Amino acid sequence: MNDEKTCLVTGGAGFIGSHLCDKLLGAGYSVICVDNLVTGRKENLSDAFDNSQFIFLDHDVSEPLNRETIKQLNNVSYIFHLASPASVVDYQKYPEETALVNSIGTRNLLEVAQETGAKFLFASTSEVYGDPKEHPQKETYWGNVNPVGIRACYDESKRFGEMMTMVYQRKYKLDARIIRIFNTYGPRMRSDDGRVISNLVNQAIKGEHMTVYGDGTQTRSFCYVSDLVDGIMQAMFGEKTNGEVINLGNPEEYRMVDLALKIKEMIKSASEIIFKELPTDDPHERQPDIAKAKTVLAWEPNVSVTDGLSKTIAYYRSL
Ligand code: NAD
Ligand code: UDP
Repeated sequence: MNDEKTCLVTGGAGFIGSHLCDKLLGAGYSVICVDNLVTGRKENLSDAFDNSQFIFLDHDVSEPLNRETIKQLNNVSYIFHLASPASVVDYQKYPEETALVNSIGTRNLLEVAQETGAKFLFASTSEVYGDPKEHPQKETYWGNVNPVGIRACYDESKRFGEMMTMVYQRKYKLDARIIRIFNTYGPRMRSDDGRVISNLVNQAIKGEHMTVYGDGTQTRSFCYVSDLVDGIMQAMFGEKTNGEVINLGNPEEYRMVDLALKIKEMIKSASEIIFKELPTDDPHERQPDIAKAKTVLAWEPNVSVTDGLSKTIAYYRSL
């Protein structure tokens, strides 16, 4: 392994993490992926496994790292902490594991960063803004989160992870940054992960009812995964990102009912759009303000929702 360019990616077998591993390997970095496969899949890493600069460790990062693992991480220069169930369906199936990986897990990884002197990136989420009272959401907004609701295992543990990252950045002078990822989609999202794009596209392809929750007027803004990964790379390797909190997302905003109509039209599906109960605490609107990412990272998304959906539809059709 090329020690000076060794990256640790937690959650690297997941949707975003696997694309990040591929991108890092393509850019000449060595990659150690640590994942316990709770929501990820080794198939996502089939290209990575062909690369001699790639190592996979099956480990739960909420647990203390064993001696063998720590030895392998000795030469890590960059830590990308992405491990966490991320879809609403997943984190409601694993609420305790989700709370732990973003709190204790983050602390464990910050300890590794402190011991190795590695640069650290915490993958946080737009969910820290909760059901926002400010629109679009800027990094300066403190959020409106229900601390005891069904999404709290995710939202509050991400908020804890952000806080812990900043404690290490300030107290131990760790070189650390936080990215707040907004809804991201693309190939390798599990078709059963319950997210709106995977649900609607697969339902439309199969001619099943397309499920819109509530009256469908709630909004989300969708970023294609390759754009997001470019933003993650910039956040880690760009200058002047130490101590920064940066939104990463595509401001292209849709009402869910309009998204369903768009997908139905693109697939030329005969599926009927049906309305189901709105889940508790479902945020009413969400759109990133990416002015900071544009300035600090010189980054903005390039893939339109139409183009990204075409690629995603082609991916699900190919399965
Ligand atoms: P994903 O579920 O596909 O990937 C998460 C990966 O983490 C999986 O491979 C899973 O097995 C692994 N993992 C979970 N707990 C672990 C643990 N304790 N130890 C080791 N590995 C563990 O989800 P994703 O969409 O790729 O999300 C990746 C990261 O990005 C998450 O931190 C998520 O919170 C964040 N994020 C994603 C989105 C999005 O729209 N996809 C939005 C906001 C934030
Ligand atoms: N949603 C929907 N139909 C589905 C799945 C989700 O209308 O089959 C809605 C959901 O209620 C939410 C939005 O789509 O308002 C985005 O949901 P997702 O779970 O993808 O992401 P998140 O709520 O975490 O932003």
